Amino acid sequence: MEKVFCQRGEKSFILLVISESSEEIRKNQIQGGNFIPAISLEGFESATDQRRGNGVYRKATEAMELLKQKKLIYGISACYTSANFESITSEEFFDSLIEKGAYFIWYFHYMPVGNDASTELMPTPQQRTETYRRIRHYRALKPLFAMDFQNDAEYVGGCIAGGRRYLHINANRDIDPCVFVHYSDSNIREKTLLEALQSPMMMAYHDGQPFNENMLRPCPMLENPDKLREMVAKTQAHSTDLQSPETAEHLCAKCDGYAQAWKPVADQLWEESVQARREKQKGS
Ligand code: SF4
Repeated sequence: MEKVFCQRGEKSFILLVISESSEEIRKNQIQGGNFIPAISLEGFESATDQRRGNGVYRKATEAMELLKQKKLIYGISACYTSANFESITSEEFFDSLIEKGAYFIWYFHYMPVGNDASTELMPTPQQRTETYRRIRHYRALKPLFAMDFQNDAEYVGGCIAGGRRYLHINANRDIDPCVFVHYSDSNIREKTLLEALQSPMMMAYHDGQPFNENMLRPCPMLENPDKLREMVAKTQAHSTDLQSPETAEHLCAKCDGYAQAWKPVADQLWEESVQARREKQKGS
């Protein structure tokens, strides 16, 4: 990483997700100027240590303190679940990050990916609605830029995966459409990036986007699981999970109930948002 990316004048930009920041990382950040660490937190100490291991919160907050002292830009990566949503989206937590000098926070919705993934951690429609409202409220008022990966699709025209704006390459060099969707028909050792982008799986993404006109239901997995089932079946993409390959059916079946419960709530929220935009346009 040091040789390839962290040099002055390098045009690539890197976002590195970490749980603590070493001296080497800070040195590279100062020298290179082209990458920014995002520290993973699950909320305050008990929530973070419960999910990531004892002592992780302390190390992460020490790293944040050092980054602040060195005046380095950094952000937070935060996954909201049914278990930690209250803490991780609380005003107290948000304000604590401002005090620690974070510049942005990137909220991710919990995804039930993996054979052992729990569906109980998926936020309820009420929790997701509250998260949507809280993050927009903070964004309007507070000096910490908050992005909500699952509820902000309207700003990027829906799903960005499958090479539309990005893709994911795993440790085995398999090219997945998204960091959360581990089904692929390409490997970077066998194809050029352009060939991979023209592969059946990536083209299925291209042809299917946007997967829903309602931008609060953007995902072919989480909110429209039949779309992922269809793409995987049509393209014969295989699971690229290196430890325990999961079938698309197994994954999508975990999302069916969630998608059904979220749909009426999302439709109402989206209607409210469309109405608000119309009112604003009329007034301007
Ligand atoms: S596949 Fe789903 S999670 Fe990935 S970018 Fe598209 S909408 Fe987001």
